Amino acid sequence: MADLGNYTNTSEILRKYQFRMQKKYGQNFLIDGNILTKIVGAAQITEEDCVLEIGPGIGTMTQYLAEAAGRVIAVEIDRELIPILEETLSFYHNVTVLCGDILKVDLTALAEENGGRPLKVVANLPYYITTPIIMALFESGVPLASITVMVQSEVADRMQTGPGSKDYGALSLAVQYYAKPEVVARVPASCFLPRPNVDSTVVRLTKYGKPPVEVEDEAFLFAVIRASFNQRRKTLANGLANASGLGVSRGQVETVLEEMGLPRMVRGETFTLERFAELSDRLLRLVK
Ligand code: SAM
Repeated sequence: MADLGNYTNTSEILRKYQFRMQKKYGQNFLIDGNILTKIVGAAQITEEDCVLEIGPGIGTMTQYLAEAAGRVIAVEIDRELIPILEETLSFYHNVTVLCGDILKVDLTALAEENGGRPLKVVANLPYYITTPIIMALFESGVPLASITVMVQSEVADRMQTGPGSKDYGALSLAVQYYAKPEVVARVPASCFLPRPNVDSTVVRLTKYGKPPVEVEDEAFLFAVIRASFNQRRKTLANGLANASGLGVSRGQVETVLEEMGLPRMVRGETFTLERFAELSDRLLRLVK
């Protein structure tokens, strides 16, 4: 089968199947072989690896992954693409295509199929659900070695940034709790068909064996983080007291902040992961 990592072969297969790209599924297909090689290289794929690809599209990146990996499992939501994938991947016997929504797929069952060994996730993600996908992967508890993904540049910046930046928020903290984020490549819009209206960046998130902070209750930590950033212009005490699920009062938050030597009017944007961990454990002791 012809290499799809270029404009000519991609447009030919799209024409052959009269495939119409669906904006609602975030369909921007890669047409640059150099970028594809770079992504697969950055993901450090070997024959020992089982790769989970989210959204194979017409199978462009899947071809590159199948050349390098022992096995590739690709999950595609758009059933119109399945006959195309049957053709473009017919040469590869180490690829399984599943038709479904990655947010509904039983990831634990997939990992079990791989003998419980950590999966490597590689994807040119649909931008409309980047954050939910990344959060679902981390929160699933499924063994993962790394997640190497193309995302909107703005999202890549949010993943990497620290306190004080306008981009800092719940995504930054969640990513940095679970993994080490690194930018692999900035990718111009001309590498896609059709061209997206935003800039793109490939990031590799290498999962930590153990998170950099220890907390009594991970779910409570993330509930505290989300509540702290929900109402950006409010103080932390207000944000947390207004969050229905937490069950803490404004007075309790203020007491804890005082114990931590912090002003009552402090904002979540200034908190490091370590400080959120301490706040979470102290609040948990009050509500338990
Ligand atoms: N991997 C291909 C490439 O690089 O050319 C296509 C990438 S395109 C940006 C995103 C792909 O994800 C599309 O094929 C789209 O149909 C698929 N997709 C969108 N939402 C999905 C979901 N919830 N679950 C699985 N696949 C999804």
